[in-house]
Amino acid sequence: ANNEFDHPVSPNHIDWKVFYPAYPSQPGLVEFADVGCGYGGLLMNLATMFPEKLMMGMEIRQKVSAYVRQKIEALRTLHPGQYQNISVVQTNAMKYLPNYFRKAQLSKMFFLFPDPHFKKSKQKWRIVSPTLISEYAFALREGGIVYTITDVEEVHIWMAKHFQEHRLFRRLSAEEMATDPVVEKLWDSTEEGKKVTRNGGQKFCACFERIPSAS
Ligand code: SAM
Repeated sequence: ANNEFDHPVSPNHIDWKVFYPAYPSQPGLVEFADVGCGYGGLLMNLATMFPEKLMMGMEIRQKVSAYVRQKIEALRTLHPGQYQNISVVQTNAMKYLPNYFRKAQLSKMFFLFPDPHFKKSKQKWRIVSPTLISEYAFALREGGIVYTITDVEEVHIWMAKHFQEHRLFRRLSAEEMATDPVVEKLWDSTEEGKKVTRNGGQKFCACFERIPSAS
């Protein structure tokens, strides 16, 4: 597989008009990032829920990201004035996330049904690791939220453990999750979530708040 992509040198080198060509006014900063967005179901769901927020899906597979791009274009045509706030980029988010987002730019990050890898030797390929969590903390603003859901309990335990152990994150309580209207969208918006439902599988959800660095 070819895992090298044309990637921007830094967030300052991105022409956001390319991603959001008809967004009313000059596009501001992307605030939501869907990491490993797959077929983009979550973005399409959140687009109309947060019409004033710019969102970016990051997907490593060329064909899948091309599909999402076409789907977004079709939705834009079908619903004039809508879906201008979502876009997708083909990239390895584990490698290039800091090339896309500045410090404290994001208010929400999503990890929905990330690919599970069990073997010890493959741990470095996990989309959630102590090193990567520090990068996510950098891109997120204080009060920003990381949303995770998976059907693999071991992955859930892994993600929860590492976010909870990180000094810049705090796990949300069940009560806090219940008051966030985004949480209910995590379960069945995406292809993978629907597949797990069809197969009668279990899902494990956890959310974490980016807390201030100075204590
Ligand atoms: N979030 C989607 C959903 O819920 O349907 C997709 C879930 S799928 C199991 C995991 C996705 O993450 C795949 O589409 C895969 O190509 C993508 N992916 C894996 N590693 C990635 C990486 N390093 N950067 C970007 N995307 C990645």
